Amino acid sequence: CGIFAYLNYNVNRERRFVLEVLFNGLRRLEYRGYDSAGISIDASNSPSSPSLPPFVFRQEGNIESLVKSVYQEVATTDLNLEESFSVHAGIAHTRWATHGEPAPRNSHPQTSGSGNEFVVVHNGVVTNYEVLKETLLRHGFTFESETDTEVIPKLAKFVFDKANEEGDKTVTFSQVVLEVIRHLEGAYALIFKSRHYPNELIACKRGSPLLLGVKEYGEETSCGPSFHDVNFLKKDEQPKEFFLSSDANALVEHTKKVLVIEDGEVVHLKDGAVSILKFDHKGKHSGSLVRPASVQR
Ligand code: GLU
Repeated sequence: CGIFAYLNYNVNRERRFVLEVLFNGLRRLEYRGYDSAGISIDASNSPSSPSLPPFVFRQEGNIESLVKSVYQEVATTDLNLEESFSVHAGIAHTRWATHGEPAPRNSHPQTSGSGNEFVVVHNGVVTNYEVLKETLLRHGFTFESETDTEVIPKLAKFVFDKANEEGDKTVTFSQVVLEVIRHLEGAYALIFKSRHYPNELIACKRGSPLLLGVKEYGEETSCGPSFHDVNFLKKDEQPKEFFLSSDANALVEHTKKVLVIEDGEVVHLKDGAVSILKFDHKGKHSGSLVRPASVQR
């Protein structure tokens, strides 16, 4: 099982390219074992008008059959594979089922429901998913899978909607995710994509592996330790590509600038910058909406 994501910044990429990067990522993760696979990419016809829900496709079986099915499915939609984007965020997953049989509904990405407001890929097990599911059911959510994972995107929607109802229209993607993971027990590597934050990705981990790779242009010769240079984290207009993966072997074909994400870190990719927030796992809900996101490095 594995997770993979791709985000380009200020470098034009066609939708087909984004799909192929995701498929290749999954091929590299194949050896880890899996029973199902899936992807999500942006469906909007213009990166600046995020009007359409992200496209999500998932099924049982191997990567090559996923590839075939995705292209077949795309052909039935308005998605133009040749359309190019200066920012495009895609996520992908191979699943080794722990909760719920291998089936399309149990494959990842799991979603917040129709509209795909939040889509999530997850490696690991959320051990307290039953109590979270009960709470969400009481708040009117319906569930379509038997996975432990489905509570995660639904909780994200719950947190996002609650912030908006309370008048906080500026709640950030990382604030939403920090509030979600505060409630999660167990092990996870997670990547979040959202219709509300179209050009951003969030990844975090506790117990399951996760790495970030960055490809910068014009600097192909500088690699390795320079990644840790804080300048790298700054927001700028330089073209870059970001990759998230469970395993370094899905990154090495793209870049040698690889950072191992540690337990308790939330990685926020936005506007060409990488922000890494630290979080403490508190387990129980304390009632506050958004835990302050502390240290940035
Ligand atoms: N526990 C999740 C599920 O069964 C994720 C499994 C995995 O790590 O692939 O869907």
